[in-house]
Amino acid sequence: MNENRIEELKRTNNEAENSSKTQPGKVVHFIREIIQDDLKTNKYEGRVHTRFPPEPNGYLHIGHAKSVCLNFGLAIEFGGLCNLRFDDTNPSKEEIEYIESIIEDVRWLGFSWDERLFYASDYFEQMYEYAVQLIKKGKAYVCDLSADEIREYRGTLTAPGKDSPYRSRSIDENLNLFERMRTGEFPDGLRTLRAKIDMASPNLNLRDPIMYRILRATHHRTGDAWCIYPTYDWAHGLEDSIERITHSICTLEFEDHRPLYDWFLEELGVYRPQQIEFARLNLNYTVMSKRKLLKLVKEGRVAGWDDPRMPTISGLRRRGYTPEAIRDFCDRIGVAKANSIVDIALLEHCLREDLNKRSLRVMAVLRPLRVVIENYPEGQVEELDAVNNPEDPDMGMRKVPFSNVLYIERDDFMEDPPKKFYRLAPGREVRLRYGYYIKCTDVKKDEKTGEIIELRCTYDPETRGGWSPDGRQVKATLHWVSADRAVPAKVKLYSNLFHKENPDDGTEGEDFTANLNPNSLEELTSCQLEPSLANAKPGDRFQFERLGYFCVDPDSSEGRLLFNRTVTLRDTWAKIQQRTI
Ligand code: ATP
Ligand code: MG
Repeated sequence: MNENRIEELKRTNNEAENSSKTQPGKVVHFIREIIQDDLKTNKYEGRVHTRFPPEPNGYLHIGHAKSVCLNFGLAIEFGGLCNLRFDDTNPSKEEIEYIESIIEDVRWLGFSWDERLFYASDYFEQMYEYAVQLIKKGKAYVCDLSADEIREYRGTLTAPGKDSPYRSRSIDENLNLFERMRTGEFPDGLRTLRAKIDMASPNLNLRDPIMYRILRATHHRTGDAWCIYPTYDWAHGLEDSIERITHSICTLEFEDHRPLYDWFLEELGVYRPQQIEFARLNLNYTVMSKRKLLKLVKEGRVAGWDDPRMPTISGLRRRGYTPEAIRDFCDRIGVAKANSIVDIALLEHCLREDLNKRSLRVMAVLRPLRVVIENYPEGQVEELDAVNNPEDPDMGMRKVPFSNVLYIERDDFMEDPPKKFYRLAPGREVRLRYGYYIKCTDVKKDEKTGEIIELRCTYDPETRGGWSPDGRQVKATLHWVSADRAVPAKVKLYSNLFHKENPDDGTEGEDFTANLNPNSLEELTSCQLEPSLANAKPGDRFQFERLGYFCVDPDSSEGRLLFNRTVTLRDTWAKIQQRTI
């Protein structure tokens, strides 16, 4: 790891530490302070009204979760309201499927908007009226420059722009042309409606920004009623104003757009919310732009938006994430004004903390190796007592069958073990969890391939429950399942989707897909589970002892169980903390 990286981890680490120490779930951050101040001065008559305004052009990802938790969370905290609003102003990229998935995801995260589900498209008529108002005030004009010309006239950060030759059109001509834009007289892209602000403004967003463009695209809600569509900058403030939002929280890249947000609302003389920007969430080893996620889906690099390797809410859900873990993560990362990259290990740490508390422990063998206990009576089955969750005695006990043929994990045995390998080996004794001590007496191999196919062992009947009356110690405890009672299953193991911390850091000429991790998915097809898992249902979560947390996949069915590994037990975040503190 390079120095910067360590510094950055330290910082995130400390922030995470501080946030959990100060007040769990109630980190003091600048947006909370702004709201507290506004409440003190009775700005907005003591109201707090936020909104989460996704554009329905893709599925929500963990970055959106940060915004969801922030907006809905602040409303809950201050007894206010939060709207769910679809910012559906660009029909060429939007779809019903995305709307449905977003609704499901926000609800799953644990938030409710009551009857306040809004669509920007419901305000199209009102927005049009407002545009007419600006034209009448001499503050907007119809421009015939092409997209390229507009860019050219716009100038640069160092050079001022040039006025459009159409800037001085009369109000009447503008009103006439704008109406004809609406009625469909002109082809796509021929004309635009622009705000008349200042082509020499140091802020490029104020150089006569476009308010409407002509675009023939069927809208998922308004159909073909419109062939002009508002731009984000024009529409967004109006949406907030119409809904009487108090604090319009958005990500940092809109900071330079704030003067425009304010300008539109001031010129119209309508209710004006306050726009507040915060740093978007970035995570290492993944990408978070919807455009890139869409590319992964379209090119079949992943199985879909809800592929468990995706950083989407639906992917995380399928993988076995809980809403509680995601909300905890969003609390811990805090809200700042400066961009940073959060380590994905922190997200996994939050997940483990939650799953540790709630998961039923079970035994499952992913890569089975057959073990025959030679001195255990054939056909005999004993029901051994197993603890469901050592973290929570209320979760009780269950029975696990023991018999003379078992499976253990292949890598829990080594024929010729190196020094620090304490698990099973020829002549060595280990403990079977909840069971007995067993000792390996012989190894059977496939004659042709030399592969180990079976171990012969003996058990000590005095060690039932896992303890020896003579105080004899063993160095390892293995998980296992009884062969004839085991339930077969498939298991998918996942690791990071990208092998680079920053997937965009590539060789020239290659895009982020060149950094996809070719080993991000491993499928195991002959796993064996303890019988209590026979009736596991999609979405059920378990800890497979010693292996990690696993969740039943929706494609699973009775008799054809499929599990996803949610996360391993190894907490790399805790290790990072030890290294950096
Ligand atoms: P993307 O860049 O992934 O396409 P977007 O900003 O275009 O995202 P929107 O649908 O406009 O997606 O986002 C809805 C809300 O979520 C916005 O308020 C946006 O600021 C916020 N948001 C999007 N990405 C993040 C992120 N990574 N961290 C925090 N908030 C985010
Ligand atoms: Mg956006």
